[in-house]
Amino acid sequence: MRLARAAAILCLALPGTPLAAAEPPKPAPAPTVIRAGVLIDGTSAAPRRNQVIVVRGNRIESVGDAAAVKVPDGARLVDLGRSTVLPGLIDSHTHIFLQGEDPAEGGYDVQLLKHPAAFRAARATVSARRALEQGFTTIRDVETEGAGYGDVGIKEAIEAGYIPGPRMFVVTRAISTTGGYPLEGYAPEITVPKGVQIVDGPVEARKAAREQLDNGADWIKVYMTHRSWLDRQGNLVSQPTLTLEEIRAIVDEAHGWGRKVACHAYNGIGLRRALDGGCDSIEHGLELDDADVAQMVRQGTWYCPTLSIYYGGWAPAGTPAGERDRKRVALHGPSFTKALRAGVKIVFGTDVGGFSWSEPIAQEFPRMVEFGMTPMQAIQAATSKAAEMLGRPGELGVVAPGALADVVAVDGDPLSDVKVLERVHFVMKDGKIYRDDRPVRPPD
Ligand SMILES: [Zn+2]
Repeated sequence: MRLARAAAILCLALPGTPLAAAEPPKPAPAPTVIRAGVLIDGTSAAPRRNQVIVVRGNRIESVGDAAAVKVPDGARLVDLGRSTVLPGLIDSHTHIFLQGEDPAEGGYDVQLLKHPAAFRAARATVSARRALEQGFTTIRDVETEGAGYGDVGIKEAIEAGYIPGPRMFVVTRAISTTGGYPLEGYAPEITVPKGVQIVDGPVEARKAAREQLDNGADWIKVYMTHRSWLDRQGNLVSQPTLTLEEIRAIVDEAHGWGRKVACHAYNGIGLRRALDGGCDSIEHGLELDDADVAQMVRQGTWYCPTLSIYYGGWAPAGTPAGERDRKRVALHGPSFTKALRAGVKIVFGTDVGGFSWSEPIAQEFPRMVEFGMTPMQAIQAATSKAAEMLGRPGELGVVAPGALADVVAVDGDPLSDVKVLERVHFVMKDGKIYRDDRPVRPPD
C-alpha cells in the first residue's frame, strides 16, 4: 500500500512519467532464525522447548515449534539449541553516570567537583555497554547525579548507532528540595553543585518538571526522602523532602505530558506523600506498612525495590550508621514479601552505578527469589512487567511476533537456578547481535 501511494504521488508531481520509472521496491532484509533449546518468552507461565524465532529487521516476525517452522531461504541461523533463550532484560533503576564510587577515591563528591563532563560521559558510555553485554537491552536510568542532560546525549548516541548500549528511558537531572540532596557538608559561605535540581514550592517544582520534560526526560525522578537514621526506639526514620503540594505539581505536569513520575522513597511521611501525590513508581520502598501496600494496590503504583544494593558497604556494627544500614535490610525483605503477597506490581531494578558496573547486574534476581518470588516471577519483573511500566507492553520484554528483536541466552536453567542469569552469553538488540560467546563444547 505504501508503494502504491508513493507511485501516485510521483505521478502527480511528474505528469507523464511512466510508472516503471518508480524505484523498485527494496528487498525485505534477510531474516535471522534463532533456534532456542528452551524459550522463556517473558509472559507465558511455562517455558517451551525447541522453538524457532524468526527475526526480520529489528522485529520478531514469528515464533513457533522447530518441527513446524520452515527456515526461510537465505536466513542466517543462530543455533541456541542448547541454551535457554529469553527476552532482552530490563533494569528499571540504573545510574550510568555513577561508578560505584569508592570512598578511598573521593566518593561521590569528586564526581561533581573534579571530573569534567566529558570524562563522566566517557565512563557512562562504558557503563551503557556493560549493561548491554550483560543482557540488559533496556534500562530506565534514573538520574545523572550532577551530569545535567548527559543521559539524553548518551541515549541519542546509542540510538544513532555511534556507541553500543541499551535502549534508554531517561529522567535527566531529578528533583529534590533544599536540604534534600548532596553535595553537603561544605562551608555555607561557598556554593557547591547539587546532584539534582533543587526546588522549593509548587511553582518551582512545576517549572523544573517542565524544563526537564522539555529537554528530553522520558520520566521525572523525584527524591521524596533523603537522610535516614534510627530513633531511640530503633525505628528507621527518613527525612521527608517535597511537600504534598510540590509533588502534586510535578505529577500533574508530567501526566499532562503523558509521562510518569518515579519517586525515591524509603518509608514514613515522604513515602506517604509520594503515594498521596500520585507517584507512578516507588523506588526502594524499604519499609512499607499495610496502609502503604493497600494504597499501592489500589492506585496501581509500581514498586522497584532494588534489594541487593543495601547488602553492601555497611558502616561498622555498633555505630549509628552501621545499625541503620543493618535495619534497612531487616525491613526491606519483609516489605517486599508483603507487597508481593498483596499483589503490588513489582519490577526488577538494581541501582547499579550505586555499586560498580563490574559487578553482575543480575545479582538482584536471587534476592527477589529469596523474598518470595518464583524465578519466573523475577524474570517477568525484568521483562514483561517492566515493559508494562514503561508503556511498551508487547514490544519490549517479550519474545513474540511484533515485538522488538531483543533476545538473550544463557546456559542452564534459570528456573532452577536463577543465578545463571549472571552469565548471559548471547545478546541481540533491535535485531543486531552485540554478543555471541556461545560456549564451545565437544560434539555429542
Ligand atoms: Zn538510584
